[in-house]
Amino acid sequence: MRVRDDREKSVDMECRETILKRTQAKSLMAPVAISLLASALLAETPKLSIKTAHGDAQEQQRMQQMERLAKQYDLKTYTITREIVIDRGAINHSSPVLTLNLRFLDNDDLALSAYVHEQGHWVLMERHRADNPALFDDLHRAFPTLEYRRPSGDGELRSSYFHIAICMLEWQAMEELVGPDRARKVIELKQRDHYTDIYALVLSHRERVESILNSHGVKW
Ligand SMILES: [Zn+2]
Repeated sequence: MRVRDDREKSVDMECRETILKRTQAKSLMAPVAISLLASALLAETPKLSIKTAHGDAQEQQRMQQMERLAKQYDLKTYTITREIVIDRGAINHSSPVLTLNLRFLDNDDLALSAYVHEQGHWVLMERHRADNPALFDDLHRAFPTLEYRRPSGDGELRSSYFHIAICMLEWQAMEELVGPDRARKVIELKQRDHYTDIYALVLSHRERVESILNSHGVKW
């Protein structure tokens, strides 16, 4: 299990404390200092470590797209792991290293949704390992007839149920990032593409799914 590396974050915090001390010292510059301080303290995406598997032009392009999105949106809440690999031949996956393929080069909202989806897996892996059996039981009890075979599910019974939680987290993240209309469009589009019954279930039983997630404290 990978342990989250917070070193950079703490270095960052030290920088901010230094800024704070300096700005306090220069009280004559108070208005400027306050606005600088405010922007320094604003939440922003932590620095991502994005590598390409082969380094070709399209992988580079996907990497640049991801770097641009990380600047454009505040992904702090939705970044559990900062290590990302772009691999043209991979199926998107979260572990051991979050890996994204070349799909959605031409669609930022879908690219963003792939990112938060894989980070959603890290929410369950990093924060809820002990809760996962009970979470599975509750989801299975609530929705006993979920079809797990592809493309309805992900091909495996247990992980299809966990994908109900992941796809819900994905939708919640997208709503915060791009607003409810664009977020719904993304989820509806994915519902026609893969994990079709899982996305359909999330769309039609949102309240029930959210209440199960809440009962296990599963959130961003
Ligand atoms: Zn997934």
